[in-house]
Amino acid sequence: MSKTMKAFVMQQIGSVALVEKSLPPDPGPNEAIVRTSKALICTSDTHTVKGAIGPRENLTLGHEAVGVVAKLGSEVKTVREGQRVAVNAITPCYKCYNCQAGYPSQCTEMLGGWKFANVRDGVFAEYFRVNDAVANLAPIPESIPDESAVYTCDMMSTGFAGAEEAAIPIGGTVAVFAQGPVGLMATVGSRLLGAGLVIAVESVPKRQELARRYGADEIVDFSKQDPVEAILSLTDGRGVDSAIESLGAQVTFEACIRVVHEGGTISNIGYHGEGDYVKIPRLAWGVGMSDKTIHTALCPGGTERMSRLLRLIEKQRVDPTLMTTHRFRFDQIEEAFHLMETKEDGVIKPLIDFE
Ligand SMILES: [Zn+2]
Ligand SMILES: [Zn+2]
Repeated sequence: MSKTMKAFVMQQIGSVALVEKSLPPDPGPNEAIVRTSKALICTSDTHTVKGAIGPRENLTLGHEAVGVVAKLGSEVKTVREGQRVAVNAITPCYKCYNCQAGYPSQCTEMLGGWKFANVRDGVFAEYFRVNDAVANLAPIPESIPDESAVYTCDMMSTGFAGAEEAAIPIGGTVAVFAQGPVGLMATVGSRLLGAGLVIAVESVPKRQELARRYGADEIVDFSKQDPVEAILSLTDGRGVDSAIESLGAQVTFEACIRVVHEGGTISNIGYHGEGDYVKIPRLAWGVGMSDKTIHTALCPGGTERMSRLLRLIEKQRVDPTLMTTHRFRFDQIEEAFHLMETKEDGVIKPLIDFE
């Protein structure tokens, strides 16, 4: 190992660069150093650079990556050096009060499980450090290539959480709002959990096509029809059992409340980045007495969940690589990042190759 490595950082709000950084220090007893092999750029990386979590200085970006264990702390016996591992975007401690209460994504404080490229350096570097490694490293099965496994870090975990939190009855009806990568995985997740009818709301043709390949039965194009009316008519006026909000906007959140029938569930995995309030339509909410439930989730992490997500790839229940629209070498990452900012050229996910 040389003494420095390349890292893609947020220098300050609004500016990014590929720089030389010191290698991570030797791992603590329950830490690990991973040599990065593949990574994915996330829309949240672009939010961070715009200032969504406040100012940061030379913070390494990225929270979706897999690689090979380069160095292990003395307490980490669950994997060995040289082994391929996936690490979730969320790396809780699994010891604090919130973790013990069953909400590890809220580790220590609200959203506190999110550490990469937030409170510590992220994964867009030749090496990255993993905290609480015993609970956060997941070995990648032999048969799964890194470029598939890397989708378990955020897109599959978050999208599937959207479906899991939606309390879908077997054979039930689901509407998934927005078919970005997270929404697409919510569509697959709904199918895997036994939904009888999946309605995907999306206007971009490439995303509509992928939604069909991932199991959507119906596509509602909100640029051509009112999505609430369309969903009601597809369900004989009754509304759906479950609605998944995977965009993070007032208009889609509100539509979720409107399209779910009495007693149904709204599952929110979208990031609501604007305004002081998210408003609930009062009458569609039964003036507060409709038995409609709103659930929220932040990308669940941990070895056990990651192993289950990897199994779904291994057993060919899902092929997440259909979402890889662009590939870049690590030295081209700035180009990939700007593509994710502009969402040009039909981009869904840009894959970054470190090897
Ligand atoms: Zn992400
Ligand atoms: Zn914790």
